[in-house]
Amino acid sequence: MSFEEPQAIRTTCPYCGVGCGVRARRESDGSVQLSGDPEHPSNFGRLCSKGSALPETVGLAGRLLYPKVDGRRMAWDDALGAVADGFTRAIEEHGPDSVAFYCSGQLLTEDYYLANKLMKGFIGSANIDTNSRLCMASAVAGHKRAFGADTVPCTYEDLEEADLVVLVGSNLAWCHPVIYQRIAAAKEKRPEMKIVLIDPRRTMTADIADLHLPIRADGDVALFTGLLAWLDEHDAIDRSYVENHTEGFGDALKAAQPASLERIAMLTGLNAEQLTAFYDLFTRIQKTVTLFSQGVNQSQRGTDKVNAIINYHLATGRIGRPGMGPFSITGQPNAMGGREVGGLANTLAAHMELEDSGHRDRVQRFWHSPRIADKPGLKAVELFQAVADGRIKALWIMATNPADTLPEADLVEQAIKDCPFVVVSDVVNETDTVRHAHVKLPAAAWGEKDGTVTNSERRISRQRPFLPMPGDAQPDWWIIAEVGKRMGFEDAFAYDGPDEIFAEHAALSAFENEGTRDFDIGACAGLDRGGYDALQPFQWPRPKESTSSGQVFVDGGFFTQSGRGRLVPISPSVRREHDPAFPMTLNTGRVRDHWHSMTRTGRSPRLSQHLAEPFVELNPRDAARHGIANADIVRVSSGDGAILVRALLTDRQSPGSVFVPMHWTDQFASNARVDRLVPAVTDPLSGQPASKNAAVRIERFVAT
Ligand code: SF4
Repeated sequence: MSFEEPQAIRTTCPYCGVGCGVRARRESDGSVQLSGDPEHPSNFGRLCSKGSALPETVGLAGRLLYPKVDGRRMAWDDALGAVADGFTRAIEEHGPDSVAFYCSGQLLTEDYYLANKLMKGFIGSANIDTNSRLCMASAVAGHKRAFGADTVPCTYEDLEEADLVVLVGSNLAWCHPVIYQRIAAAKEKRPEMKIVLIDPRRTMTADIADLHLPIRADGDVALFTGLLAWLDEHDAIDRSYVENHTEGFGDALKAAQPASLERIAMLTGLNAEQLTAFYDLFTRIQKTVTLFSQGVNQSQRGTDKVNAIINYHLATGRIGRPGMGPFSITGQPNAMGGREVGGLANTLAAHMELEDSGHRDRVQRFWHSPRIADKPGLKAVELFQAVADGRIKALWIMATNPADTLPEADLVEQAIKDCPFVVVSDVVNETDTVRHAHVKLPAAAWGEKDGTVTNSERRISRQRPFLPMPGDAQPDWWIIAEVGKRMGFEDAFAYDGPDEIFAEHAALSAFENEGTRDFDIGACAGLDRGGYDALQPFQWPRPKESTSSGQVFVDGGFFTQSGRGRLVPISPSVRREHDPAFPMTLNTGRVRDHWHSMTRTGRSPRLSQHLAEPFVELNPRDAARHGIANADIVRVSSGDGAILVRALLTDRQSPGSVFVPMHWTDQFASNARVDRLVPAVTDPLSGQPASKNAAVRIERFVAT
């Protein structure tokens, strides 16, 4: 195709899980023109600052352009041969579980599908996980417990239609700005719409909230179990729905006890007036969506929090109806697509389970694969612990930078450095991960890639290329397929394009669900290149009985064995281990204008103008106690290390806690890698790290 198209190409923003449609065009002078796609149902033409600045980030500065082996430029054939040999050797000498892939929510669905097919179906291990483990694994685990499958009940339209939107652990205004804009616009039209923000920080999102609850870190599990008990006491349970469509209500209610306001206040750090205000709003207003994000998921009790939220929606029948439901928002552009194709170490494609022998058999038959992994693999944090202790001999990292973004990041970087064979396929030439790779494979970037992504409301959209691939860069799916062929699996990895992979993924979904559920994606099984190119954004799964807005569970049926939604008993208690040496709580997260470890947004001077350097937000009272003034350099330390960041005093931060953004690495600013402070503590069910509750201390830094 020509890359100087007279008309714009319709594609999808590569940043957050909102999945905004964009129209992009390459001009004859090489510059890129870009605008929001007014016809895309996720954003209707809106874009945020990051999306608008995409043209500034597509240049070739810092690009990895050619394959390299041990620092020397190689032809693709030699580099791919080195990867296949390295993995084959490790498997022959140490078995299939001695190798691992670490993927990314930046990969397209087709890339993700192939990486999982190669590892689970042909290598025969499930040691493949993803940085999406850090983003939504607790929501996945909670959905499976409650619904019997990982299914997101809501859509963006529900947020606009709700009379009460409860935002939990989510700074939408900065992290999912277009959803924030849609809710803000809905509230402007209907001022009676209520918004509650539950977050230890008074973030920018609080600007549209009628009520902000500055909850103590991890206090939300008590807040929500307390709500279930309150609803029961105030005769606000939907007894008919509970009786006909759910199971486990009695046990969940029992586990929520004791739930006096005094006890819930003690566990949450809120007062009785704040609790009553929230509980009363929820009791009075029927059409309610609870939207949650990393403040819920990134916790040692992340899965319990998710189920505590789902419990009160099931108990009130507020699910599967317009403007109602629990709604997990994903952080990354294709975290959801990864879920669909078995991108986690404990899942299989088409939402099948690795631990289910029937599912394993079905996938193996479909793939005609010589073997299939028969047990769940290592989840992100444990995967890198296995690299560190030498169990993993060959590691392939795709499109992500774990040396900066996983908990105990310094140990992770050292583990990568010490691993006998490391392959990195990426867009950039230099990150704290890429620099340790024995083999570097240049991948196509956004604007060059061709495939699909799925956003937070389960909407599949196309990413289409409008720029030529520079140097020797190749799409991720092609790189994975070529390695698969060189490992001896020629037929299974012979694809001519991403359309064939997508059609295969759709066929597997149809194969899995034949006669049981009706999924639109199954209709894509026979899709040809023309049909793939013409794909319009669509949602799945979508049972026949779906509402026009694409909601699921509309008939009160769920995917559990009994067909009922399951309430899970959740204890309100919060475990506190207080180390007097590290008396403060560290919360990490995103800022408005940067993305992950800034490999892309760091290239835009405009985006860096918003917040130009790493900082720590702290309450003025804490600052005064430590003799810290605004703009001082502060040393923030935990048992795992220390960073130096600029003090930003704000009463948006609750006393006793600090906030440091996740983006700056030691590559961008000296001693700024905040994930070195975060301990490798995970939710036991989901394996998601608890990135919002590290124990730290702060002190004013004086250079000597
Ligand atoms: Fe991109 Fe998210 Fe901004 Fe939309 S809201 S333009 S998907 S970063």
